[in-house]
Amino acid sequence: MPSRPRQLFFQHSDDWATDHSALMTEPEIWGSLAFQGLIVDADGHLREQRCCPSCQSTISGPPTSLRVVLDSLRQQSQVTHLSLAFLADIPAALLRV
Ligand SMILES: [Zn+2]
Repeated sequence: MPSRPRQLFFQHSDDWATDHSALMTEPEIWGSLAFQGLIVDADGHLREQRCCPSCQSTISGPPTSLRVVLDSLRQQSQVTHLSLAFLADIPAALLRV
């Protein structure tokens, strides 16, 4: 998995819509925000959803590299699979805590 820049500290102004748009203009910053999925918008365009580091809302913007998205989803899927396998071996009584 290629290394990605760490998310930058970011606090937006009261004009959050403009600030959200600005996050999308720099591909390296946009790609560093937490990935929240892919959607197809009303016009049929593929959009990528990323989390605003300031207000935690979901922002829909241009897709980054689909290869990077695929690699990231595979990695997340493996983490989920391994975590579920780990939890399956935990005694049920411990899962209530
Ligand atoms: Zn925001």
